[in-house]
Amino acid sequence: MSTTKLAALAGTALKNNFTSLKRPYKLSFCITYKCQSRCLTCNIWQIKPTNELSTDEIRKFAEKNNYFKWVQLTGGEPFLRSDIVEIARAFSDSCKNLYIMTMPTNSLCSADVITKNVEEILKLGIPKVEVTVSLDGYRELHDKIRGIPGNYDRAIAIFKRLIELKSRYPNLGMVFGYTMSKFNQGQFEKTYQEVKKDIPSIRYNDFHINLAQTSENYYKNESDDIRQSSEEAVKEITYVLSKRESELGIIPTLEKAFLKNLITFAKTGKSPMKSKALDASLYLDSWGNVFPSIMWNRKIGNVRETDYSLISIWDGSEAQQVRKDVRDGREPDQWTSCEAYQTLTGNVTKLF
Ligand code: SF4
Repeated sequence: MSTTKLAALAGTALKNNFTSLKRPYKLSFCITYKCQSRCLTCNIWQIKPTNELSTDEIRKFAEKNNYFKWVQLTGGEPFLRSDIVEIARAFSDSCKNLYIMTMPTNSLCSADVITKNVEEILKLGIPKVEVTVSLDGYRELHDKIRGIPGNYDRAIAIFKRLIELKSRYPNLGMVFGYTMSKFNQGQFEKTYQEVKKDIPSIRYNDFHINLAQTSENYYKNESDDIRQSSEEAVKEITYVLSKRESELGIIPTLEKAFLKNLITFAKTGKSPMKSKALDASLYLDSWGNVFPSIMWNRKIGNVRETDYSLISIWDGSEAQQVRKDVRDGREPDQWTSCEAYQTLTGNVTKLF
């Protein structure tokens, strides 16, 4: 069953090398903008959202758009939604070829709540469930960047609970998500060594690196000065890449290619390749607004106005115009994990 779903995902991603897709296979979905953090790199926590999509609305959306093979739930803090398992179930029930579901956490809900919800999601039978635990520095640094005393210790505690859960659910994967910014410039190795003391089995491969970026429609931090210096970013990503153990398999191959292209992006500030926005993927916010990606503030519709179906938005003239803009190189420069993986699998010749 899981092999069939993997084959369906791989087949669609490969097909996207030769042709545009009729329907997207990856959904990036911000299920809530609620967040109890106080990050220096992101302003989502300042939003006090109301009227976000309800469980019933999300269920309807999943039923009407049942072609997703990859669902990325994000936030805010996704575990602040008490119905997160029901949301996962809605996609798992409706999307028969759903292979992978991912979600981040800032570790600020209780460890019991996060672990219990992850376990319930694992029980749904989705072949791969990946949790990214945010960690931007060693103890004092992470707590300073996140603005929450004790956040580092909570992240370590959650990661340990996930390691324990993985012994019972091999379909669980977890990484630390490390966002490089001007606030933690040059501090990756010190962070790694501190984590190693707390989790001796940790490897460099267990860290996923992102560069802090700005966006109007997602991070709401378009005028903030948060980026690491280009030189320092190149140096530090190159270092992380050199420390990774080589591993076979599609995920390690993608991760390596992601990092190599992240170096290019850090050097040039330009997207390393044209994205697959509104071809393989889309970004849906918690009010039902549809965007090409989290980095592109260009709303193309709202599913509350289409009875939760994406079809008329996806096939509409605004979406066609966006696709033309991508082809003509008029999309914002970015290289984020939300967009990079489907872009890489849709450009396999650039994977190695
Ligand atoms: S980066 Fe994550 S944890 Fe921090 S404010 Fe933004 S959504 Fe919240």
